[in-house]
Amino acid sequence: MGEKVHYTTVAIIAGHDPAKLPDQAVEHGAENVIMIRGRNLASYSTDLYTRAISDQIGSRKPDIMLVGATYQGRELAARIAARLRTGLTANAVSLDIDTQGSLVSGVPGYGSKVVAQVACIKNKPQMSTVRPGVFSKQEFPGTNGKIEIVDSDIPDSLDRVRTVSRDVRKTSDIGKAGTVVIGGIGVENSFPMVKEFARKAGAEVGVSRPIADKGLAPRDSQIGSTGYSLKAKVAVVIGVSGAEHFVTGIAGCKTVISVNTDKNAKIFDYSDYCVVADASKILQLLNQGGSK
Ligand SMILES: Cc1cc2nc3c(=O)[nH]c(=O)nc-3n(C[C@H](O)[C@H](O)[C@H](O)COP(=O)(O)OP(=O)(O)OC[C@H]3O[C@@H](n4cnc5c(N)ncnc54)[C@H](O)[C@@H]3O)c2cc1C
Repeated sequence: MGEKVHYTTVAIIAGHDPAKLPDQAVEHGAENVIMIRGRNLASYSTDLYTRAISDQIGSRKPDIMLVGATYQGRELAARIAARLRTGLTANAVSLDIDTQGSLVSGVPGYGSKVVAQVACIKNKPQMSTVRPGVFSKQEFPGTNGKIEIVDSDIPDSLDRVRTVSRDVRKTSDIGKAGTVVIGGIGVENSFPMVKEFARKAGAEVGVSRPIADKGLAPRDSQIGSTGYSLKAKVAVVIGVSGAEHFVTGIAGCKTVISVNTDKNAKIFDYSDYCVVADASKILQLLNQGGSK
């Protein structure tokens, strides 16, 4: 992209006490950082963040704005796009610039069988949300980015949500995990055993979408086209059929080991090691140390 256009890369961060985030943005290639600072921005609020970021984008008028396609990012980007009356391409897996200088975002469709090339050309900024885990983080040693602090004066009264209590959950970035054990609906009833095995193996727990839909695991552990893309060295996939929407999430894994009762399960087409067995029996053995 950098060879085709000469845009300045600016990171925009909202928060109260950003710690090392602005410096990290510079280390990863931001030429400028706009840090919007405010006490009421200390934790994410859709209303306040939308307003704070839209004000900056609206006055600075960038050509392109990219947002991570995380759960918060998707919500935030849609709101900012609506506020700025511009288009938004959701969930991009590739980015390019065409001969007219427009942003072209690759968006998977039909279970990732096609990647549509989408350009929003009418209004600016051209906006896309970009799926986490698709691009590798680059290091730019010795960059000299400028950090600009903007103090926010957005009133609390704009926030339509009142926080009653806060439950801080320890999360980890599954997209970066080296080993992931993934449970599908085939192990719905033995899901605690999947978690136990993952714990013993020092692995992160991932799930197929129906498991997240049922609330058996947090949404941020969902693997697939609307979840995370893995780059794990080893993925153990248990009780998952191998739907197109799921397998896009494991395409980047080095070794895939699958367990399924159905010897014709599609997941085996994407696996290096295939175990045809009842997962609950396998998990029982694995959790006991496999002595039987
Ligand atoms: C727009 C869209 C986006 C989507 N995004 C995602 C996504 O990001 N991630 C995702 O996962 N899905 C996604 N889906 C849903 C996807 O299409 C599938 O429905 C889903 O992946 C199926 O989940 P599953 O494999 O757990 O369940 P199933 O397809 O029902 O498969 C269960 C498997 O478990 C096996 N099994 C049953 N019992 C046992 C046992 N005792 N031991 C071992 N194996 C057993 C069965 O043989 C079967 O193969 C999306 C769908 C749409 C329409």
